[in-house]
Amino acid sequence: MGSKRKVLALCGGVGGAKLALGLSRVLGDDELCIVVNTGDDFTHLGLRICPDIDTVIYTLAGCVDTNTGWGRAGETGEFMASLSTLGGEDWFYLGDKDLAMHVERTRRLAAGEKLGSVTQALSRKLGVSVPVIPMTDDTLATQVEVEEDGKSMTLSFQDYFVRKRCEPKLKGIHFVGRDNAQPHSQFLANLQDSDLDLIVICPSNPFLSIDPILALPGIRGILQKTAVPVVAISPIIGGAAVKGPTAKIMAELGLKMHAMTVADYYQDIVSGFILDRRDGAEAEAIREIIPRVGVAQTLMQTVEDKIELARETLDFAGLDV
Ligand code: GDP
Repeated sequence: MGSKRKVLALCGGVGGAKLALGLSRVLGDDELCIVVNTGDDFTHLGLRICPDIDTVIYTLAGCVDTNTGWGRAGETGEFMASLSTLGGEDWFYLGDKDLAMHVERTRRLAAGEKLGSVTQALSRKLGVSVPVIPMTDDTLATQVEVEEDGKSMTLSFQDYFVRKRCEPKLKGIHFVGRDNAQPHSQFLANLQDSDLDLIVICPSNPFLSIDPILALPGIRGILQKTAVPVVAISPIIGGAAVKGPTAKIMAELGLKMHAMTVADYYQDIVSGFILDRRDGAEAEAIREIIPRVGVAQTLMQTVEDKIELARETLDFAGLDV
């Protein structure tokens, strides 16, 4: 290994966490910082729940349910079953082990700790030594405009995503609090670090996971101006989303399911773009809008896949691997 590298990764939940794990296996703890979307966070049953942060922590800690990509492996559902019997709100599944995370987070927040410090403490307890930083300590909440039975309405993100299973037609996405939420100080410090070598935009949903991060005051402008390479990995493989509602959302927003659509969306902030081999035919067209384009096997099913894509991303950006 050559000299020390410094990489900042911007990440959502399931797709982003997979590459974050790969990066954490290739880079040292002092070479990587993972900034996570908190637009999906909400308060439910009196508990503060941060779905993307928990997915990243569980993935890095090796205790994620690999079948779903979120939640904990070997989870039990006693709490949920009892709550359901009592007629409680059971539309958002909280496993017994997972529940402990939300209870402890809520306790610490109520005692006055900031989300970043709570996240750091809880991830350390689960054995994660790489810094996992919420994009902000403040509240920026994703809301969606939808149409259901001919009626337009505004829904909070989890109401749309989980309670209504993304069924209403999506018309628009807003980030409530975007003007007042400050990027986390460690996020800003990393962005402004003169030793920073690379910013990676993980293969997360561009509209729901990455956009909230970009919506924080000043962040888009910093990425547009930075001399540090910014490389995005496409979350679209073979003209389809690997999992989740990305395809439905893109169709409803009038966007085509092509790597090019994601490249076009990111073109003002990235200097490099990696797309999957299966979409390789699009590389030439993407090269016309983004200076450097790479083609790789981007489907991450095994830990080895995740490490390999992390290596290819660093190599693509000219870093020692
Ligand atoms: P969420 O917040 O849990 O929905 O997670 P993300 O936004 O981080 O990830 C969702 C996106 O990840 C979807 O668009 C998927 O297509 C993409 N994704 C999931 N797994 C993979 C993978 O192995 N490779 C790539 N390239 N994209 C993936």
